[in-house]
Amino acid sequence: MSDCKEIVLLKCGELVLKGLNRASFEDAMIKNARRRLEGLGKFHIWKSQSTVYVEPLSPEIRMEEAVERLSTVFGIAALCPARVVPKDWEAIRAAAPDYLARDLGAAKTFKVNAKRSDKSFPMKSPEICRELGGLLLERFPHLRVDVEHPQVTVTVEIRERDAYIHKDQLPGAGGIPVGTGGKAALLLSGGIDSPVAGYMMAKRGLELIAVHFASPPYTSDRARQKVVSLAERLLPYTGRIRLFVVPFTRLQEQLRDKGPEDYFTLLMRRAMMRVAEAIALREGCQGLITGESVGQVASQTIQALSVTDCVTALPVLRPAIGLDKSEIVAIARKIDTFETSILPYEDCCTVFTPRHPKTRPRPAEVARIEEAMGLDPALLEQAAAEAELIVLTQRGMDR
Ligand code: ATP
Ligand code: MG
Repeated sequence: MSDCKEIVLLKCGELVLKGLNRASFEDAMIKNARRRLEGLGKFHIWKSQSTVYVEPLSPEIRMEEAVERLSTVFGIAALCPARVVPKDWEAIRAAAPDYLARDLGAAKTFKVNAKRSDKSFPMKSPEICRELGGLLLERFPHLRVDVEHPQVTVTVEIRERDAYIHKDQLPGAGGIPVGTGGKAALLLSGGIDSPVAGYMMAKRGLELIAVHFASPPYTSDRARQKVVSLAERLLPYTGRIRLFVVPFTRLQEQLRDKGPEDYFTLLMRRAMMRVAEAIALREGCQGLITGESVGQVASQTIQALSVTDCVTALPVLRPAIGLDKSEIVAIARKIDTFETSILPYEDCCTVFTPRHPKTRPRPAEVARIEEAMGLDPALLEQAAAEAELIVLTQRGMDR
């Protein structure tokens, strides 16, 4: 263990607030981190005093890649690459300058911080700071010590087993570990908003499945493929996603032929909710997620939202509800879904769009229209039953 290797320390953010549940949250985060590192090589991962240690078990493992992968795991507030050295002052002074060369070479100011949880170590913290600070100033004469606002903070930690030399910590993905908050079905279109909504709810600990409505031949295979690509882009954050592609053409045609034109979008959205609910319940989900935002389009007035909400008993989570489009776009760029979302393929929501959609519908009125249409409920069941399942994992795609 003490052979000067680089490891990564993970700081659990909000997890520490979880009282007695803390251990199970940490374990879930570790399980997700382990999955995320799959294929990179073998790691030993353990926790001690609210820090999780990720240690590579072979020298070939690319630790920069490991850090990058771990930076999308929810529940990690910060990541801190560190060099493990024997608990011996000579070993620390021999290792520190080379390990820190790149960071200190590019900085103007620095400071050294020391933490000594092993009180039997012969030097006290101020002495470690003074000695190491002096050594680094000798090796990097362009540097200046700035204890208030250093560009680089070097931390030396003397722990039970080993000593660690840390670089500055990097921001983690934050949030809470996926899977600890239950499971929900994301209604995933090819647009900008719904992938962002999925990311936001995964960040709050929800495991996701995705439901996409496709209406061939009105919607193309490329539009469908775009949705698969969007779901794949969420995988670094969410882990495995079971994506259901619902054949929606017959239902949409029936709604167009039998219902009043200005209610078409509302009728269609209610049908989507019902089919999504059936799939969600079958898959053990406790909620639905959409990318809606109040006032964005006619079907997203508060009245229209209540008309769609009331057909499902599941809570409909709309994390983008109060965001401006520009705020949603900023998140889409950050999670790298934006460029895919703006590819110009049609969605089933843009098929048969009414010229004058109802913006202030009343639930009772819409229910009456539905009843008068006499739509066969088996059509909804059939759409849910015939949905095609695509299982998306970091390693590939199974049907
Ligand atoms: P987005 O960018 O997410 O497509 P939008 O502003 O285009 O949002 P709408 O097309 O009205 O909004 O859709 C609102 C929400 O309904 C979407 O965020 C998504 O959750 C869901 N939705 C729309 N079309 C589909 C679809 N074809 N399959 C599954 N869900 C959909
Ligand atoms: Mg859309």
